[in-house]
Amino acid sequence: MIKLKSKVRVVLFGPPGSGKGTFSSQIKKVLPDIPHISTGDIFRENLKNETPLGLKAKEYMDKGELVPDEVTIDMVGDRLSKEDVKEHGFILDGFPRTLTQTEALTEITEIDLFLLLDVSRDIITKRILGRYSCKNCGEIYNIYTLPPKTEGICDKCGAEIKFEQRSDDNEETLKNRLDTYEKNAKPIIKYYKKKKLMRKINAENTLELTEKDIKKILEV
Ligand code: ADP
Ligand code: ZN
Repeated sequence: MIKLKSKVRVVLFGPPGSGKGTFSSQIKKVLPDIPHISTGDIFRENLKNETPLGLKAKEYMDKGELVPDEVTIDMVGDRLSKEDVKEHGFILDGFPRTLTQTEALTEITEIDLFLLLDVSRDIITKRILGRYSCKNCGEIYNIYTLPPKTEGICDKCGAEIKFEQRSDDNEETLKNRLDTYEKNAKPIIKYYKKKKLMRKINAENTLELTEKDIKKILEV
């Protein structure tokens, strides 16, 4: 029997809509205990609960701009200090997004792998404008590329779902998010390439990876 490495610390990096969320769910199937830390999800959760952090983040998120580094870095630093992270590592999804955040992350923790999900801009646009999720369990679907097996019913939890977009998944905000990504991505990718931690994955097609693929990618 192959023994899994007990701890993996991976950064998932790629433009909005590159499949970071979907890819994270697939990693969780192989490593069920690994915490999936999505800064976008944490911000949305805080927004929903109207916490001070949520209110602060709202104005930026609504425009598709980045929440300021200090706020984001503190939030992630907090999350990474928790017990589950010490024990099982993490999938970091949506962080770092700037060079300042990248350098801050290096101060906070080592990582094992920086995975770049590579997709062209027009595929992204289609994916994002068609994307929706199950309100009950969070499973992600797409009207064009990834509909549930039975229309209107969640594959994962069986709840009824309807097409309801994330509020920042509209054409104008998306353009901003993609521009921001393109502006920031280069130096971050270069940073991890230099540390020999960068690995690029073609994410043009819907990511349907087997357990073996995932293990190979994560080297577990
Ligand atoms: P996407 O990758 O689809 O743009 P996310 O769910 O990752 O969406 O993030 C949604 C929004 O949350 C971003 O547009 C931004 O306003 C904010 N956000 C998420 N992660 C970060 C980050 N690392 N730094 C600053 N803002 C962030
Ligand atoms: Zn569901």
